[in-house]
Amino acid sequence: MTILTIDKKCWEEGLDRARSAYTLVGPAPEAEALGFRELCATEYPVMDGSQTRLSPKSVVFPPSQVMMSCPLKEGDAKQNIYESVEIGTSPRAVVGIRPNDAKAIALLQLNFDTDEYKDPYVMAAFEACTFIGLAVSTPSATDFSISCGTGPFDESALDILLIDDNDRYLTTVITDKGAAWAAAAGFCTEAEDGAEGLIQAKKEAAESAITTTIAFNRIKEKTVLDLYNADHWEKTTFACLNCGACTYACPTCWCFDIQDEVHDGTSYRIRHWDSCMSSLFTLHGSGHNPRETSTQRIRQRFMHKLKYFQDKYDHGIMCVGCGRCIEQCPAGIDIRNICDTMNREGIRG
Ligand code: SF4
Ligand code: SF4
Repeated sequence: MTILTIDKKCWEEGLDRARSAYTLVGPAPEAEALGFRELCATEYPVMDGSQTRLSPKSVVFPPSQVMMSCPLKEGDAKQNIYESVEIGTSPRAVVGIRPNDAKAIALLQLNFDTDEYKDPYVMAAFEACTFIGLAVSTPSATDFSISCGTGPFDESALDILLIDDNDRYLTTVITDKGAAWAAAAGFCTEAEDGAEGLIQAKKEAAESAITTTIAFNRIKEKTVLDLYNADHWEKTTFACLNCGACTYACPTCWCFDIQDEVHDGTSYRIRHWDSCMSSLFTLHGSGHNPRETSTQRIRQRFMHKLKYFQDKYDHGIMCVGCGRCIEQCPAGIDIRNICDTMNREGIRG
């Protein structure tokens, strides 16, 4: 592993140099908030450490994505025959992503890249990305990432980790992909001896600033029915409005719907983000709805994140402790409290 030093005065020049080979993606203003999106030639990623309102999962799993299309015109030899659209594979530099958001994208892969099914759209987007993370120096009050097995300096899902050090970035180059981007940007100055110790000190300071934790060590031991039939659900979730904000903001939520839309004589098959908080999400064609009530739906959200995911993948919980759902919930529902309750209660007999 190499540690470089990047003078901030040379930062934008390096990004511009790398643009010849990589599309630049990063945190940037979007409507009235900070978003994560492709940047135009005159834009640079916001590197002040703020968390984006929506997560960067859109980099590999866009809110709306055309998967297939077919012409509808009479006489067209391909009329009504759906074909996959071309899948973009050109390299993208995802700069300024938080380490736990990158970890969340790695968790998404567990669903979209399995032995039974490999999603070509998500996989191609993932392969095209080089993840250049920015360590979180000042975690927010709702950050509980360490409990979730990640953290402000987690390198596990990154190709490069940048650490803000006043007028420079200390830069840990983790993978070959990361080294290729650094070379394309012209960043090649090795850091001084002792840089590793400085990074370690910054890491410990950031981690010790995280004061909020969750416990889920007992959830795996409990049966699905113990947790599902527990008495607390009505009480712990009664305030939920089923608005879906938590699911759209969450970097690990992956529910989607597929719809056909017709525009100008062409039919498009489009995948859109959906939310398990919506009653329409599970409404059957017969009219039956297995999750008709609000409590059933929010119980599903927490059972999926905290129990079903653990049981199925043996990869911890489906949460990276970013705190977005806590900050954006209009009803004050806090996954930390629900998780602690599930961990503590619900055993029958
Ligand atoms: S938990 Fe909060 S953010 Fe999520 S659907 Fe319910 S009210 Fe909306
Ligand atoms: S804290 Fe909330 S929004 Fe963030 S990963 Fe966990 S469940 Fe998703």
